[in-house]
Amino acid sequence: MAVVAASKPPVRPQIRQTQLFIGGEWRPAHSGKTFATIDPATEEVIAQVAEGDTADVDAAVQAAREAFDTGPWSRMDARHRGRLMRRLCDLIEAEIDELAALESLDNGKPLSDSRRSDIPMALDVLDYYAGWADKIQGATIPINGNYFCSTRREPVGVVGQIIPWNFPILMAAWKWGPALAAGCTIVMKPAEQTPLTCLRLARLAQKAGIPDGVINVVPGFGPTAGAAIVKHPGIDKIAFTGSGETAQVIMRQAADSLKRLTFELGGKSPNIVFADANLDAAVLGAHVGIHLNQGQCCCAGSRLFVEDSIHDAMVDRVVAMSRSRTVGDPFAAATQQGPQVDRAQFDKIMGYIELGKREGATCATGGGRVGDRGFFIEPTVFTNVSDEMTIAREEIFGPVLSVLRFSDVNELVQRANATKFGLAAAVWTQDVARAHDMARRLRAGTVWINCYDVLDAAAPFGGFKQSGFGRELGAAGLDAYLETKTVTVSLAGCG
Ligand code: NAP
Ligand code: MG
Repeated sequence: MAVVAASKPPVRPQIRQTQLFIGGEWRPAHSGKTFATIDPATEEVIAQVAEGDTADVDAAVQAAREAFDTGPWSRMDARHRGRLMRRLCDLIEAEIDELAALESLDNGKPLSDSRRSDIPMALDVLDYYAGWADKIQGATIPINGNYFCSTRREPVGVVGQIIPWNFPILMAAWKWGPALAAGCTIVMKPAEQTPLTCLRLARLAQKAGIPDGVINVVPGFGPTAGAAIVKHPGIDKIAFTGSGETAQVIMRQAADSLKRLTFELGGKSPNIVFADANLDAAVLGAHVGIHLNQGQCCCAGSRLFVEDSIHDAMVDRVVAMSRSRTVGDPFAAATQQGPQVDRAQFDKIMGYIELGKREGATCATGGGRVGDRGFFIEPTVFTNVSDEMTIAREEIFGPVLSVLRFSDVNELVQRANATKFGLAAAVWTQDVARAHDMARRLRAGTVWINCYDVLDAAAPFGGFKQSGFGRELGAAGLDAYLETKTVTVSLAGCG
């Protein structure tokens, strides 16, 4: 593993927005409280951000409610709604370098990832949903009797959106895109670790002409600001991405008001390599599948199943590639891996690494901290892992791969599916029939064949089992923000 020394960011982003954004205004928290957001590469404070709580969520819901119930958004010509969303895309494009730098500063991900992937993908999702705004249609239905029956597709109302820290701006875009296209209004809570790009995006939305109150952003903590959103009677739907534990709390609390819920949660995704696979591609797929974004991906390929006959050769190459990964300053051009997002995640991952060793797996590479400042962890590969070990069962959410062997296909399918999760899976083989058979038998919301982490605004993404419910992206993602209304007109007396 190469360690990259610190350098100054090429574009040092300016921190412009640190307050709550409610009803088109920037304001401090009602309590006057703030919290620090940290640069995980240096552990230094980047900025103090207003800490929203119940009173602020109340104000945000009131603004969103007004914007929805009496404001122009849901009544505006749908095409114009799409046009305003496209204007937002143009403003993102104009500031893409600064947004990328801000994202890397707050989250720690390599600048090259933010610039080449996160921000362009966020833009693409908003652009894709801008196209949907004027294509949301109902149907006419031939019911019995002398009636004209049709359906209208209407926005679900005010939506509470709670997002995590692993892809801050991208998660905001995934949530805003379908909500805005549908004509909903939004109260969003970004993760406490990474509020800055979401706040910047809100400023750009305002500049684009999206009316006041349509998007409200309340940074703060989960058990206070987050819980206030979940419990608020003025909110019609919650969209949440994060951990299963938090989703359970949200589901219980949302029960009182029977809010609509969509959840995108974690995973322990199997990445399966058959002996006939193109090994170069599979090795790269295994590497990217686990290490992308410092391993902080809900769909990380954290269980690598390798067929017996190629196991040792594959492991050698996967280990070599992990060793050669460059870890260090997110702003250095050569960096492939930055720090974990915060100390809590760092400690949690290091705890899993110790547990892996204690339970008898072989730490083939990595396993330690990098440097003594910032939350950097060596790319880590465990071999000789068995299915019952904790590192093969629980989501680690870090750069830690567990390699498992298989020989029998039926047994493999059973083992791959023997998890409470079901977000993603991948299969590497040249045999078309095998690929399709596996795609059918794996219990996961996404199955990649001879590729990994291919996500697109148009393709639905979401989980089976405890990886969540509902889908994001594509037409399915839009459905979650729409109600279907049936309108039946009597034609009595008309011939
Ligand atoms: P988390 O607690 O689920 O956080 C996700 C979001 O939910 C954050 O905005 C969080 O606020 C908020 N939240 C927390 N408690 C809440 C509550 N009671 N009511 C409403 N909102 C609440 O996740 P985490 O603690 O940051 O990370 C823990 C683990 O979750 C990770 O190690 C990983 O396994 C998993 N995770 C999965 C994803 C994913 O993409 N599926 C993303 C992140 C984490 P705060 O900012 O205050 O935490
Ligand atoms: Mg948390």
